[in-house]
Order: sequence, then structure tokens, then C-alpha cells
Amino acid sequence: MGLAMPLPIVETTPSVVHMEMYKTSNQELDYLAYDLTRYLNRLGHASFFFPRDGFGSMKALRENNMAAFSHVMAAKYAGLGTIGASHCLLTPEFGPRVRFVSVFTATGIPSDPVIAKELCIKCEACAKCCPQKAIRMREDRVVGDYDSMACLKMAEELTARRCYPCGICTKVCPIGEDRSHYQQKGVMKKYLREAEALAANPEDPEYKAWTHIRKYGVFREEKSAPDKNRKVSP
Ligand code: SF4
Ligand code: SF4
Repeated sequence: MGLAMPLPIVETTPSVVHMEMYKTSNQELDYLAYDLTRYLNRLGHASFFFPRDGFGSMKALRENNMAAFSHVMAAKYAGLGTIGASHCLLTPEFGPRVRFVSVFTATGIPSDPVIAKELCIKCEACAKCCPQKAIRMREDRVVGDYDSMACLKMAEELTARRCYPCGICTKVCPIGEDRSHYQQKGVMKKYLREAEALAANPEDPEYKAWTHIRKYGVFREEKSAPDKNRKVSP
């Protein structure tokens, strides 16, 4: 099951406000999964849950950048969405702006059908806006190549600045009914121009709502360039 990350806060990333919402949604998911597991067990259905994040620190991820279990794959096979170029699960309701947790149960709940039609439209926004160039589009398939170590480098920097996670790829994805819920129109151009516009003028008024939030409660940014020599593995 998943919980939505409201778009206006996702748009402030990287920010302490985004980090707090991310932590809250993760915590809430664990509480929901824990309560559901206890409820199912009380009814006699053997159940347990897998917590939403399975790593102890960035150092642990650098040693082994893998998870024991993929909530993204679980959510895909539970019929909640399809995997996009960014490796995120895209849902019809919220695009990739969803956090997931998984409950395993022996109870006989009828499954939802897997969504057959890919939701990713290969618009390339996630690949273009990724500050680490960690996503590379593929001609032959929807799911892109993903440089997890480049993404981890970003996560380490943002953790040090107290504004983890990055999530720019989830911010810019056009998929999701949440865009019409928040009455967003023409925002894609704004996303695609953002890095260049703010490099030219950090006080660009078009981005003031986001840059204002980013200024507070975090350590200052240290510029890091993507490593041009790194390899992207499929
Ligand atoms: S989280 Fe950030 S660094 Fe990682 S792939 Fe997405 S946009 Fe790139
Ligand atoms: S931003 Fe575009 S290419 Fe990336 S996952 Fe979303 S729809 Fe697919």
C-alpha cells in the first residue's frame, strides 16, 4: 500500500520541509502496516510487514547499494502502477509521488489486475532534470538505465545538508491526477528551465516560492558536478 506525497511540498525539494514530509509518510506507512498486520493476525490470518526503508545509513548503502525487498515491484504486482524510466513506480493517481510499504498475509484477498498499459510516456523530464544525470533513457524499453551510485552521491550530499532525499525525478514526472488536483498547468517548462534559471539568477522570481523554503533549516549547498567518467550500468 502507498501514501501520497503532496506535490506542492515535493516541489520544494531539496528542503527540510520535503525531508520532514518524507519522514512522516514513511513513519505513517510503518504504523499503518504494523496496525494492519496486528489486525490480520488477530483475525487468524498469518501476516507480517516489511518496513518501507531497509537501510541503516548512507555508509551501509555505499557498501551495498541494494535492498532486501522491492516495494516498487510489490506495488507493481499488486496492480498499483507501472515502473517508469526513472525506476519509480508511477501510479495513475499520484505519478511517482507515493511511498510504499508491503504487508504479507495468508488471508485470501482477491488481487487487483496488474496495470497492462505503461503509464510512463518517456517524456525524458526525469532524465533531463536529474542533477546527477543518473537516469538514461533507453530506446528499447521504458525503464531507463539508472546509476544508483550517482544517485547515492546526491543522497549523501543532501543528508549532510539535512535535506535528504532528492526526489527531483518524482517532482518533475508529469504523470498523476494530483497535477489537476493542484490545478497545475504549464509547469513542465518551469521544471525543465529551473536549474539553468537559478544558476543564472538564484533570486529568479518565478522560483521564489521554492527557493524561499530551501534557504531555511539546512546547511548551505556545496556545488558538486556529476562525474563525467562514471559508467551507467543497466
Ligand atoms: S533522486 Fe535525484 S539524483 Fe536520484 S535519480 Fe532522482 S533526480 Fe537523480
Ligand atoms: S518523467 Fe517522463 S520519462 Fe520520467 S518516468 Fe515520468 S513519464 Fe516517464
